[in-house]
Amino acid sequence: MPDTDILIVGGGIAGASAAYHLAAHGRRVTLLERGEIASGASGVNAGAIDSIGWGDRPDLQAHLTAGSVDIFKAVQLDHGEDIEFRQSGALQAIHTAEQYEFERARIQTLRARGHQVELLAPRDVRSLEPGVSPRLLGAMYSPLRSQADPRRATRALATLAERLGARILTSHEVSGLAPRPAGGYAARTAQGETVAGALVIAAGAWCGPLGALLGLDIPIVPVRGQMWATPPAPPSIFQTISSAESQHAWHLDPGGEPPFLTIRKGARVTRHLYGRQRRDGEIIFGGDREEAGWSTTPDPAGIEVNRGHAAEVLPFLAGLRVARTWAGLMPFPLDGKPLIGRVPGRDNLWIVSGLASSGFGRGPMAGKLLADYLHTGTPAPVLAEADPAGRIRER
Ligand SMILES: Cc1cc2nc3c(=O)[nH]c(=O)nc-3n(C[C@H](O)[C@H](O)[C@H](O)COP(=O)(O)OP(=O)(O)OC[C@H]3O[C@@H](n4cnc5c(N)ncnc54)[C@H](O)[C@@H]3O)c2cc1C
Repeated sequence: MPDTDILIVGGGIAGASAAYHLAAHGRRVTLLERGEIASGASGVNAGAIDSIGWGDRPDLQAHLTAGSVDIFKAVQLDHGEDIEFRQSGALQAIHTAEQYEFERARIQTLRARGHQVELLAPRDVRSLEPGVSPRLLGAMYSPLRSQADPRRATRALATLAERLGARILTSHEVSGLAPRPAGGYAARTAQGETVAGALVIAAGAWCGPLGALLGLDIPIVPVRGQMWATPPAPPSIFQTISSAESQHAWHLDPGGEPPFLTIRKGARVTRHLYGRQRRDGEIIFGGDREEAGWSTTPDPAGIEVNRGHAAEVLPFLAGLRVARTWAGLMPFPLDGKPLIGRVPGRDNLWIVSGLASSGFGRGPMAGKLLADYLHTGTPAPVLAEADPAGRIRER
């Protein structure tokens, strides 16, 4: 008799959401997390939630983003959990004529597909966000983009799962995983063994080492993301803020495996920028994405580049000091596509990961899609794009 119907390894936004949605289906769920809930990337990210709406023909990205906004909203408004969610809207700053032309065409295409984005003239940008530089050529405005506190949001999903009967066990590091002859899996921790009918890997950047315990090669690598914060300041930034520079650069050359890095083999290929002001007044910005092994020590040179970039968009930031910096590890899939679904060739083995640099905003729906698939046995059609088949291999 298994201890639990479904065992989830990893208490980030993906695992917490999967636990919540499986518990909502009435399944017996246990989640093992080696630290606290949200002690990985889900606790240290910028809290920016990406959505441009479902569009006319929603693909996987639309499901993950717009679907997650619906879940965040429900957590804040219907379940009584204050996760600091607000639909703030977002501005993507345009610095050059080339970026302007690129954004103009992109916005036209997105609007033709029913997405909610707008190209704003400098004057309109400044009336939405008074602190922005008068030198910007404009901005892409996305009214549906939102923000929330990442740690609170992830913990809220785990709390909601617990309320529905899920067992959430923190300080439980999985050090061994093995299929059982009778079916299902046994997971070893320092506290003992947990036996489960089905196993869900939701270990973010650590999916590789977990897969290795099962003799699998999971094509996800850790990519370091880093941020800096000012001391609390009076309300001065109202949307989430980004820049078109990286979007344009990655459109021209996404790079190799994994794609969409800012620094490749030690050399900078683009600057990247995202940030917002938290409810407590801290202004937080970040951007770099670099393969730096398992290091979570921020690179000071990258922080300075990012500060300069942020001040080009919001000049008043140049006058604010940095109160703290931090870094975390993002789960980057080598081919750029999420991994959500059943691992082929194995009995009842599942994965929800590879959410890369936007997994906070996409994690809630990723967990739900996985939970619905596991519970019903039928994948949502959009999951074809995230199918682990042919991507996760035997070692
Ligand atoms: C600096 C930074 C800024 C970011 N900004 C944004 C943003 O603004 N918007 C956005 O959408 N995304 C952002 N991201 C990306 C986002 O944080 C991640 O994509 C997302 O949090 C991944 O969630 P996850 O649940 O897959 O992984 P994680 O949150 O990393 O969770 C994996 C969990 O597995 C646990 N684990 C690992 N191994 C074991 C084991 N052996 N036993 C038990 N537990 C284990 C870990 O402790 C961890 O808690 C940012 C990331 C960083 C680092």
